Amino acid sequence: MDGDAKVPDVSGSLMKPWKVVDSIRCDDARPLPEVNLYVEIPEDSDVECPVCGNRCKSINGAEEDIWADMAKGRGIRLVVRSRVAFASCPDCGNHKLQFHWEDPESDFTEC
Ligand SMILES: [Zn+2]
Repeated sequence: MDGDAKVPDVSGSLMKPWKVVDSIRCDDARPLPEVNLYVEIPEDSDVECPVCGNRCKSINGAEEDIWADMAKGRGIRLVVRSRVAFASCPDCGNHKLQFHWEDPESDFTEC
């Protein structure tokens, strides 16, 4: 494992409050080298309820969602492993927070 593995710049794709907590590069992956990014929303972050827009706190789930960036020309396969997070809304309950890379227009597809 190369400790100096270069992580692609995803600052444009990853927005607050999502935070990269780890990254692992695998150069033996086929057909392209692969970078796994582990992201999560730190628990108790200020988030917006996706249903009613309330300001509320985030809580983390145990599961992991995996998304891969299949964008061509990057020479690398970017895999985002995100810990599921919920907005804990006092008015309407817990709602899963969407990753903006779930946007159909993004280059990511769910694995
Ligand atoms: Zn709400």
